[in-house]
Order: sequence, then C-alpha cells, then structure tokens
Amino acid sequence: MQVHKFGGASLGTIDRIRNVAHIIREHTQRPSLIVISAMGKTTNALEKVAEAFFDGRRDDALALFHQVKQQHINTAKYLLVLHYNACVEQLNNFFTEAEWLLHDRPVRDYDYYYDQLVCIGELLSSTLVSFYLKEEKIDNEWLDVRDVLRTDANFREATINWPATDMHMQTQVQPLLQKTGLVITQGFIGCTDDNESTTLGREGSDYSAAIFANLLQAESQTIWKDVSSVMNADPRQFEEVIPIPELSYEEVIEMAYYGAQVIHPKTIKPLYEKKIPLYVKCFLDPNMPGTVITRKKATHLPPIIVRKEHQVLVEFQSRDYSFIGEHSVGQLFQLFEQVKLKPNLTQNGAIRFTAIFDDHLEKLQHIASEAEAWLNVMMQKQLTLFTVRHYTEEVLNSLIKDRQLLLMQRTPDTAQFLVQN
Ligand code: ASP
Ligand code: MG
Repeated sequence: MQVHKFGGASLGTIDRIRNVAHIIREHTQRPSLIVISAMGKTTNALEKVAEAFFDGRRDDALALFHQVKQQHINTAKYLLVLHYNACVEQLNNFFTEAEWLLHDRPVRDYDYYYDQLVCIGELLSSTLVSFYLKEEKIDNEWLDVRDVLRTDANFREATINWPATDMHMQTQVQPLLQKTGLVITQGFIGCTDDNESTTLGREGSDYSAAIFANLLQAESQTIWKDVSSVMNADPRQFEEVIPIPELSYEEVIEMAYYGAQVIHPKTIKPLYEKKIPLYVKCFLDPNMPGTVITRKKATHLPPIIVRKEHQVLVEFQSRDYSFIGEHSVGQLFQLFEQVKLKPNLTQNGAIRFTAIFDDHLEKLQHIASEAEAWLNVMMQKQLTLFTVRHYTEEVLNSLIKDRQLLLMQRTPDTAQFLVQN
C-alpha cells in the first residue's frame, strides 16, 4: 500500500482541491491512505480563534470561527452537488464540536483548548476532499484519525502511543483499506485515551503520514508540495536554487535539524525504521520527477544552504574570570529546557558560553534573568544564521560577502556562521 500526504497549499483553492482529486485518480495506486492537512491558512485562523477564546474574548472567537466555517461551506457549495447535503451535515458536526466549547469559559490550560479547536481544520478539509472524491466517482472511506492515532496528553506536541496506535491500525485501518482501497484521513492530529483531541506540533502532517506508513508497512510515502523537488536552498530566499533528485534519510534529518523547511523533522525516523522510500513530488506538475529519499547515501550533493533570520546571540560570561565549566553549562541547559527553547548553535570558551536562539524574547528574558544570578548576560538581536552542508570556500565567501561575521563553526561537512544583517 501507499501513503500520500497533501499539505495546506495543495488544498488552498477550489481548483487545487480539484487538482488533488486528479492526482489521487491518476498518480496513486490502491490501496492508498491519504493524509490531509487543513486547507490553506486554516490552522493559523484557528489559532486566532483559540487565542481569542482563551483571552476571554468570546464574541471575537465566535466571529473568527464563523469565517472559517463560512469558507468551508462555500467550498462545499462550489465543489458538490449530489453530496452537498451529506457533506454539510458532517461539517456541521465539527462546527458544533467547536462552538459548544467556545460557549464555555476556559478553565484548563491554553494548550488543551488550542488542540480541541485547531484540530477542526483537518477534520473539515478531509471531509471536503472525501465527499468531492465521491462526487467524482472515486470511491473512498473517510476516517476520523482520532479513532486510531493514540497519543499522550502533552497538548500541542503530543507523543504517539505506538503500541495502541499499531493495534488500531491492524483492527480498524487495515479492514477499512480493504473496502475500497482508498482511505482519506487527517494529518497533524490525534487523540488521548480520554477522547481529547491532540496535535503533534505545527506542520506535523508529514509525520502523521510516516506513522501510517510505518505501521501499515507501506511500499512508499509521497508528500505533495508546491515545489518541483527538494532544493539545495529555500527558493523564497535565494534566486538560484538547484534541485536535488536523490537524498539519504540522514541528509534530510540533518537539513531539517538545521532549520530547512523541507519536511517535518520527525518524519524520517518511522520511514528509516522500515526502509520506506519517501517521495517529494510537485502537485502543480505531478509528472516532474521530484526527489526520492532513501537510505542510500547520495553522492555529489551541491552545497545545501539553510538561512535562519531573527536570531539572537546570548553570551553568558563568568563574573570573576573563573572558568565556565560543565556545572554552569549544565545549569544553563536546564534553564533552556525549562522554557522549552533549544539553542540553534552553542560555543564554549574559557570564561564564556555562547548560544544562538530563535527570537522568543520572553523566554530569553526569563533565561537571562535567571542566569544573571551567577553570570553576566549579553544579548544581540536581529542576526542571521547560515548553515551550509557540503560547503565550498566559494559558497561561504559569497554568503558572508561584506556582512560582519560574529561567529563560525565548521566540521568537515558542515559550516555554520552568524552574521549581522
Ligand atoms: N495544518 C497543520 C499546520 O499548518 C499541520 C500541517 O500542515 O502539517 O501546521
Ligand atoms: Mg502545512
């Protein structure tokens, strides 16, 4: 069987949803399980609903939710005739689920409400796709992923309960796949043992697809994106980018770790475990070859560039010229962990420890004020961090140009440097 994942951009307009149906008809083989993200920017819109609700702005929350609702009903109107009523009935169930909650007052923590509301995006989009496929005479089964994908209750970053999920795959998903050979379900979301919805972290649908691929022993996973293949740099940031036809799991894990927004970082492990190839294909032109990711080590890779903006350099320095040893560094890492902030780069010197972070300023202020109990702390904002895998001197020089270089680290295959904008 195959697993395919369609992201928000591939479902952003009526034409794009039609295009997804075309791809499912022409470019997938039964049995297939299709993992669907929320349409376009729906997740962002639902985040706003959750914020308003939690701030106690109920009317705003309801008004914002109304927009999401209207957009999905309009989409159904454009796409469906025969199946319109049935589709709207199912959409209404999810609208009610959210509105019922919005009429309450928040008594639990934000992350809980976030998940109960934000999960609706995927439920709505997958419902639309499933009914549209039926309208196009493409038989399929719609699956509420919350019936099968079990997680813990770590809302917004839930961890998969693999044994329970595996059991549901064998008892529920396998038989469903046998029915029509096509199952449509949601990415990004799951459910606790207590029937509370959870999410797996932003952009988590790639990972959901990999969980299905792993547990259903898929022959392949395909992620349909708006780029022709994985590139050596983000085409939104660089004018000249080079397509990469083949990559290894390891290379992709490294790229994702350094911040390349190719594929959700957790996606690779479940695929690697079962040696399942991952295809990245373009939904705008499905005949293009795309990229295949396997365990085979790719040779002759071009320099792969990751550029991260809005970086903050934090320097922790001992007050009296005593060495900044493992004890101090250990304490600092505990502080980072406390606020769930992971440094993008660290460097250790005699009396100074340096770390680079994304600009979560509140969290950084907290770290600084705690560390100031025993260290001097200095912060510099608005910096850019470059990571170049398989670098050449030429590429490094062209990136640094006349920018002020603040820090550089190299291994034989990876160079990282921080510059002032
Ligand atoms: N809809 C979710 C998000 O925008 C999950 C995903 O697209 O993978 O983060
Ligand atoms: Mg997405």
